[in-house]
This record gives sequence, structure tokens and C-alpha cells, in this order.
Amino acid sequence: MDISYIINALGEDREQYYNAIAPPIIQTSNFAVKSIDELRQLFQDEYSGYLYSRGLNPTVDILRKKCAALDGTEDCLIFNSGAAAIFSSVIPFVQSGDHIISVKNPYSWAQKCFDLFLPKFNVTTSYVEGNSVDQFIAAKQENSKLIFLESPNSWNYSIQDLQAIASYAKANQLITVIDNSYSSPLFQRPAEFGIDLILQSATKYIGGHSDTVAGILSGPKHLLKKIFDLEYLLAGNGIQPFNAWLLLRGLRTLPARMERLEKTCQQVIQAIEKHEAIEELIFPFHHSFPQLKLAKKQMSTACGLFSLVLKSSNAKQIETFCEKRKRFLIAVSWGGHESLIIPKVAGIDPNHFDPTNRDHKMVRIYIGLEDANVLIDDLIEGLDELKNQHQS
Ligand SMILES: *Cc1c(COP(=O)(O)O)cnc(C)c1O
Repeated sequence: MDISYIINALGEDREQYYNAIAPPIIQTSNFAVKSIDELRQLFQDEYSGYLYSRGLNPTVDILRKKCAALDGTEDCLIFNSGAAAIFSSVIPFVQSGDHIISVKNPYSWAQKCFDLFLPKFNVTTSYVEGNSVDQFIAAKQENSKLIFLESPNSWNYSIQDLQAIASYAKANQLITVIDNSYSSPLFQRPAEFGIDLILQSATKYIGGHSDTVAGILSGPKHLLKKIFDLEYLLAGNGIQPFNAWLLLRGLRTLPARMERLEKTCQQVIQAIEKHEAIEELIFPFHHSFPQLKLAKKQMSTACGLFSLVLKSSNAKQIETFCEKRKRFLIAVSWGGHESLIIPKVAGIDPNHFDPTNRDHKMVRIYIGLEDANVLIDDLIEGLDELKNQHQS
């Protein structure tokens, strides 16, 4: 199925709604049935039809069909945040006494799930660097149930060998989950490498306009039905119809936005990469990236986020570099129309700033839909200033 068909047509039954091109927002909590038998059937299997919008909803279903097809999976569920998708990808598959193997430094709320939440229920997690399948093999215990990946990571872009890990996991009855937010299904399709469950924060590229928080979890139907039947209905964290509609609208322009972002990102990187105020530029498709070969095997391309390690011995200089940017807003998240910047020092006590620690000097930049030249000029201005400060 080609991407244009998925985005423009799949799942849309326009004759059902006056041939409207934009689908309706079916803003209803419940659905009427014609017979008690029909109701009985829905009670037995709520995944089979429309009963109540905490479960299935027709507007959300249009989105589900498109997102599953983009991920190349049988099915998907849409949540009211990426964090909820993370939670629901893990909780159904572990019980007390079980063990998880996770790549080191996953998204902060995945980390909190493993470090703060799951230990309450006697589920433990081991972290591995992730750049070799042998580390996963070494970390496996008798009670291991699940491998959690994030590739690329959204700060240092380290990646994992999806094919090797998936094939090891399959042979050892481990479920594999990946956070694919960085690439989106347009640039990386982990199901093709055998990964079971693929999640992304749809707040980022699919929403695309910084106006919706949502998450998507794709995979085989039997796993998603298991999640739906208990945890999805219990937590009640499925997406609401209006937000699903916003994501459908975002999807229409996803390929066009990604193409533009990729081009602008390359232009910006080329313009600044040799600047003397930069100690290191980290981007998975940059020639200096240590895992470039694997990145090229797994991802069709990369865009949007990259990080800089700045040459500076002073936290305040890095903060000022961010604060003085006219074209980059200081904010978390990414994937919208607007360029963003965020320094690692925001997450550490300024008294603990250590100029010999590369991480402390890192800023993450998100390239939005602005004209490349205005972004380049703004960054060069800041880098020049930093260079002068560093030299003086
Ligand atoms: C933003 C993000 C999430 C969480 O998604 P929300 O929609 O903010 O809940 C998960 N993983 C990664 C890599 C993210 O960047």
C-alpha cells in the first residue's frame, strides 16, 4: 500500500458521511444497539464493535487503520499521550517477579516507569548500552519477559540493531518494544525487522502543529487485543475523537513536512558543522556518527533533531546562547512547525555543572518549518558570540 493512498483514502468511507472529504468527529460517548443479542455480543468482545467511546470510536478507527498501515502492522491503538502508549506497551506483559531489559537512558517517563513504578509490583529492569546484541543476551535472566528499545534515542541518537535483537528475542520468547518517536513510520519501520510493538509520541511529527498530545502503539492484532481487553479499557487513556481528528489532519501533510524538515535540517547542519564553537555535532545521518552504517540500514533518512556539544566552560554561557536565539523557542517536545532549543543544563543544578562532562555542554535543537537561512543566521550569531567568549 503506498503512503499517499494510506494518508488520503485508507479507512475513509465518505459515502457514510455525505461525501465530506474531511471525516466527521463522532463526538459521542455511547452507541445504541438494535437488540439485546447485539449488546451481549459487545459485552463479550468490546473489540468487535462500537459500544462506548472509552473503547472504540469511528473517528479514532479511521486513524487506527492509517497508522497501522504506516507502521506495516496488523493493528494499532491510539492513546491520549505517548507516555500512555509506553505504559500500555509494557504493563500487560509483565507480572510480579518478572524482569525487563531496557536500553540505557530511554525517554524520561519510560525510565520512571521502570525505576519508580514497576518496582512497586516487584518487576525489575536491567539497562544495557544497547550497541551490541550481546549486551541483551548477557542481561537476560530466567524471568526476563520484555526488551524495551528506543532507536534512535532523542538526545544522543544512539541506535540498536533491530534485526539482531528481534531475532534473538523471538528465539527466546521475549516481547520487543521500540519507541520510534524520533523517526516516525516514514523514516523507520521496525516491524520490517521483526520488532513486535512499535510506539511513537504522535504529539511530535504526526500531530505536527504543537496542539495535540497523543501516542500510537502498533503491532500484531493478538497483542493489541490483549492490551485493549484489560489495560486500555481500565486506564481509560484512549484518545478522544476531536484529538484523533487533529491527528488525521496532521497526517495529511506528514510526508510534505518531513521532506521539508529533512532538507532544512541538512542545510542547517552543513552551515554550522565546522563552526569553532562546536565541540561535537550529533546527528544519526552525519558522516561523523559512529553508528552511521547501522543507521542507514534501518532508517531511510533522519531529520528534525540534532544535538551540539558546545565549547564552553560555563553553564551561564550555554544558557545565554539558548535565551538569545530569536528563531528558536526554549521548550520541551518537538515535531511542530516551530524551531526549538533546549540545553541539558536545564536538568542539572548549575553548581554541579562540569565542563569536562560532554553531556553538560549539550544543547538539543529541533529544526521546524521556517526558512533555512533565518535559522542559520540566528545560530551562527550565537555561535560566534560563544566563540568570542570562549577565547577571551
Ligand atoms: C515526547 C516523547 C514521548 C512521550 O510522548 P508524549 O506524547 O509527550 O506523552 C515518548 N518518547 C519520546 C522519544 C518522546 O520524545
